[in-house]
Amino acid sequence: MYQVTHTHPGIAALNKKSSQIADPIGLSRRYVASGGTRCPACNSSHLSSDGELELIGAGATQGAKCDDCNSTWLDVYHLVKIADLVDRKGEA
Ligand SMILES: [Zn+2]
Repeated sequence: MYQVTHTHPGIAALNKKSSQIADPIGLSRRYVASGGTRCPACNSSHLSSDGELELIGAGATQGAKCDDCNSTWLDVYHLVKIADLVDRKGEA
């Protein structure tokens, strides 16, 4: 469990209402390590999807929000592999 301190510039920025944080790498990494199950701001497990899944090239984004502290962010997905290929190039 990480400690929230008031001296951390990222946390100070989080406390500013309705402002976007420029890529909080540590918080993002921690969130991904949790499998997307813990709020990056308050560590709550009460999370919801917020909006539609949007496909962008070989990736996708999905809005997410915390039901406890009302923080919002985008989940960012990347294409990593394929599955269940049905190769029909020899059938024509
Ligand atoms: Zn939260």
